[in-house]
This record gives sequence, structure tokens and C-alpha cells, in this order.
Amino acid sequence: MTAHLQVKQLLDFIDSSPSPYQVIATIEKWLSDWQFHKLDETEIWSLHTGGRYYVVRDDSSIILFVIGTQPVAESGYKIIGAHTDSPGLRLKPNPAYQDNGLMRLGVDIYGGPILATFTDRDLSLAGRIHYKTDIGQLKTKLVHFSEPLLRLPNLAIHLNRNVNDEGLKLHKHSELPLILATVNEQLPHQHFLQLLANAVQIEPEQILTTDLTVYDTQKGSFWGAQQQFYTNSQLDNLASCHAALSALLHEKNLTSNQTLICALFDHEEIGSESLKGAAGCFLSDILERIALTFSATKTDYQRALARSFMLSVDMAHAYQPNFPAAYDNQHKVLVNQGIVIKTNANQRYSTDAVSAASFMDWCQQVNVPYQLYSHRCDLPCGSTIGPVISAKLGIHTVDIGSPLWAMHSIRESAGVLDHHYMIKVLTQFFSDCG
Ligand SMILES: [Zn+2]
Repeated sequence: MTAHLQVKQLLDFIDSSPSPYQVIATIEKWLSDWQFHKLDETEIWSLHTGGRYYVVRDDSSIILFVIGTQPVAESGYKIIGAHTDSPGLRLKPNPAYQDNGLMRLGVDIYGGPILATFTDRDLSLAGRIHYKTDIGQLKTKLVHFSEPLLRLPNLAIHLNRNVNDEGLKLHKHSELPLILATVNEQLPHQHFLQLLANAVQIEPEQILTTDLTVYDTQKGSFWGAQQQFYTNSQLDNLASCHAALSALLHEKNLTSNQTLICALFDHEEIGSESLKGAAGCFLSDILERIALTFSATKTDYQRALARSFMLSVDMAHAYQPNFPAAYDNQHKVLVNQGIVIKTNANQRYSTDAVSAASFMDWCQQVNVPYQLYSHRCDLPCGSTIGPVISAKLGIHTVDIGSPLWAMHSIRESAGVLDHHYMIKVLTQFFSDCG
């Protein structure tokens, strides 16, 4: 597939996945062409060599695996990890209220978005609704409003004269609620429940709770003189999820000596500490179950971990030439110039000399260029799922990613070639079983 087509597929993947819940639904639809068998954590599993399986935990984290022909104690796991969530705004549990003839929705801030980028966008809602059926069962439905529903209008420059000198500052509590409607005869809460109920074809009084994400309805697109760049929301980190899945769902990786794992977690942007986050037990539970299902002992499982390797894939800070002072001059990473290997002496990234060297070797095997990133010492460095998983499981890990502009903006940009390189090297990582 050409680089352009790969990115087109990525943009479609993001456009159908406005919240982590839809990310999983989109992946499950994709998997339906690839004979993957869904496993339930509450059931007893029977796994077969060469089998393809996946497990979803709480609707927004997923682990896919292909069982290798060799026992895991002898060959270890090959793991690619990424995250399904992106920073932004989430609706509060009781969001709707009336204010001077307008109906507004109160929001919580999820992770670290660039809040100013949420103004003047065609926003809408997506997520999941929990409700009670006519016969008293609790059920979940996904909801995805495709039309723009919400807006955060900027203040006119005449009322905020210093905005271009001081930047747009939004008070996190009082200046983020979103406008949904002019008030009608219904109370705001009832009006809002009616809107949700209509969208999923139930009655408003059946709704118990919701998990709703604010998202941007603008679709992804290419840009640049040769269309060599692309933009969308949630590139951090759905671009990495897409690359990981493209590598696993490749003919040559669906039969392997080694057991191949794709682990895509929710809650990275808020620190990964949750029942389905990377700092929780989801991955270790699945790896251990795979080993024990094949009658391995605890020691075999530990031997398997000691032989394993993980690529923690997350986006990297591309050099933006308007702001040269923000970067370490020796570690500028450029869009469309290759995969970024991220290093931090304080282990905010899990990379060390050993894991970086292994990754460079995979890049060299398929002629994929790579670049080295290190954050400025006087700026706090971000982190990824790499260090938490590496620490928990004792697995050699390297933090890598594609260069990205405007990380945590509602509209991020990256390079077409880099996504192609990423799919190429991840495919090689999985298929190199030497
Ligand atoms: Zn990320």
C-alpha cells in the first residue's frame, strides 16, 4: 500500500473513532476480516498455537495476540503498546443547565489539552450510555452524534484586547462550559436526556449514566504543496494504534514463531492508573493467562518475560521552526525524516542503550530512517506507557514515535512518510523472529 493510502486509512480510522469506546468498536469491525476470536475474561479460555485472539477490557482498552509456534518460555512475547485516549473535554455527570436563555453543558478537563484550540470549533459528543432495559437489565450503547452540537465561542477581540500579546487564557471552571441550545419549555436536564435517548432509541428515563467525550467533527485531511502532511484530532495516539494494528494484521505476521501482542490502553493521558490502564493488571493478566493456558509454570512465565521485548509507540515533538528556542539543538526531530527514538536520563521514556540499539537494527533491516530526541533539560519531560510497563513486567522497552506538530491541540499535524516508515518498521519488528 502506498504511504498516501496508508494515511488515508488512518484518517478514516480516526474519523470513525471520536472517543476511546468507538476506537475499540472500529478495531473490532476491522478485525472481522481477519479471523480473530474474541475472548471474555470471565470465561475459561482454550487457546491454540497459531490462533488469533483479542480481549477488550471495559469497552476502551484492547489486547490482541497471535500465538506463536514456540512456547513463550523459549521465545518470549513481542509487544507493541500504544494508547486509545486523547486529552480533551469530558462531560460532567450532571452537565446541563440554563444561563440567560442558553443551555450550557459543564465539562471536566481530561489530561492536558491545549484548551485554546477548543474554541470556535464544530464540536460534538460521542461515548457510551448505560441504561436499564424494560426487563430490568443494565446495558451499554455507544452514541456518536455526527453533526456539530456544541461550541465554545471566543470572546471578541474588542472585549479581550490583550489576547494576541498574552495568549488566550480560559478559566478552567467558569469559561469552558459549552453552548448546546437556546432554552425551550423543557428543563435543561430533561432536554439533554431526551437528546441522548433519541440518538440511541431508548426512553430518557431509562438512562442511568454516561461517559461522553467532546470531539471535533472536522474530518482529517492532507495538506502541503505535495500533500505530504496530514492533520486530524487524536493523532496522539491513534496514529500509533493504527500503525501497530497495520503491522499485526499483515499476512506475514499472522503465523509466527513468537507470540505477538498489540496492547492498546485507555487512560494514558491521565497517568495509566486504572482497571484498564497500562499501569494496571490488564497486560500482565493476559500474558500470564496465555502462558498458563499452555501448561507453563510460573517460572516459565518469568522466563518468557525475561526474553520479551516491547515497543512503546507514542507521538514525538516535531521541530516547529517558528519556535527554535523550545528544542535542544542537537535533538531536533523533523517531520517526514523518520522514526523518533526518545531518550530521557530520568526514565520518563523507557529507552536505554540496549533497547535503542535493537530498535535501530530493525530500522536498518528495512531501510527506515530514525532520529534521536531528548527534551530540553529546563523543561519537564512528558512520559508514556513505556516506563510503567517496563517496570512492572521487567521487559526491555524502547520509546519511539512519529514526529508530530501541536501535540494535544484538537488539530494535530504529522508527516505522511513517517506513518509509512512506522508501519514498515513495526511490521519488521513482528516478523523478525531470529
Ligand atoms: Zn500520547
